[in-house]
Amino acid sequence: MKIETLVKKAQAAMNQKGATLTVDGKWGPKSETAAAHFEFKVEAILDNLVIPEEVSKTNEPILGITEPIFVTVKGSKFKDRGNYETPSGKFKGLTVHYTVSGRSAAAAENMVRFLESKGYGCMVMDENGIIYIPENFDVFKTWGYHSGVSEWKGITGVSDHFAGMEICCWGIGSGVGPFRDVTTAQGYIIAGKYQQYTAAQEKALINFILWAKTKNPEFDLDYVAGHDELRKEAQELGDKQDPGGSLSTTMPAFRQLLKTKAKALGI
Ligand SMILES: [Zn+2]
Repeated sequence: MKIETLVKKAQAAMNQKGATLTVDGKWGPKSETAAAHFEFKVEAILDNLVIPEEVSKTNEPILGITEPIFVTVKGSKFKDRGNYETPSGKFKGLTVHYTVSGRSAAAAENMVRFLESKGYGCMVMDENGIIYIPENFDVFKTWGYHSGVSEWKGITGVSDHFAGMEICCWGIGSGVGPFRDVTTAQGYIIAGKYQQYTAAQEKALINFILWAKTKNPEFDLDYVAGHDELRKEAQELGDKQDPGGSLSTTMPAFRQLLKTKAKALGI
């Protein structure tokens, strides 16, 4: 589906909730303002999965898969580093990050530009689960640096094998809630007070992963990892803390959830 079509769908959905946008597929200031007051929900088909209680609240409306909403940040281009270093040229894994920033649409767009200015590159998700990318960015094939020192199942410096999802959030030590307090370090998770990802972000993350799995056979759900996990595996525990307590569950439980859902959906 084209980006314009996705934007049109989003604009139409917002109009149904009282916005008065021209449905033209162009993401202008009016659409952005409307989006700040609108929670994008993922359409659902019923299933009978038993979800671990810890993540059930984030999981409830996600019962199927929909096309993620991508917004291109005009005028922004990541350095061209070619395709992922995998047999298909598509990503094998995904690193879950947080940005240490605000999470409005404008903050997400600014983060794309910031990554560009630093020579980094990955997707950025705002508080409503909308994913921002630069121009000429193939989400399956275009790799950029985002994980630094990292290791996962024998792959070191995973950025050329793993896509990155920067989820807008202040993370550990945030002055802005809602908070999740991790009082005791748990494995790779550093103790501290974290700003939580929004429910819309967690739903959109799960949806993106399952959607990507249907489009990319190279993608292995056992290679969905937290930046904190990747640092620990590279003998740098604590050097990065995302997602830590910002995610409502641990990464091993999150992977299990993804695999259970993928199996039930036949993907
Ligand atoms: Zn990170």
